[in-house]
Amino acid sequence: MNIPFRRITKVPTEFKISADGVVLKGDVVFQERNLALLQGQLSGEITLTCDICAEDFATMLNEKIELLISNGVYKGFNENFDVVEIQETLDLDELLHSEIELIRNDYHSCDNCKKQERN
Ligand SMILES: [Zn+2]
Repeated sequence: MNIPFRRITKVPTEFKISADGVVLKGDVVFQERNLALLQGQLSGEITLTCDICAEDFATMLNEKIELLISNGVYKGFNENFDVVEIQETLDLDELLHSEIELIRNDYHSCDNCKKQERN
């Protein structure tokens, strides 16, 4: 799903997309100049690989995301939000894909290893 930046207004544009069983639902609203704010919720089931035993395991996602969308190079500084730079078009599928990659690249341990860590 693509949203041209010029179509993003003060009235939130709602979206719901999914990939690999993960759903991203939310909206994007115009802020000022070349900036828009995307707020959404990641949900669904994701398969992760345990960093301790290397086994795959499934887990349910329930994560809020807030991203500042910059049409063109972002020159400011914002410590509250991650910034995503786009060129005229917000590609939500690409965004969801990179969010899933970020989660996969985090450190994860499966339930079995978590239990052993506690003992
Ligand atoms: Zn494990």
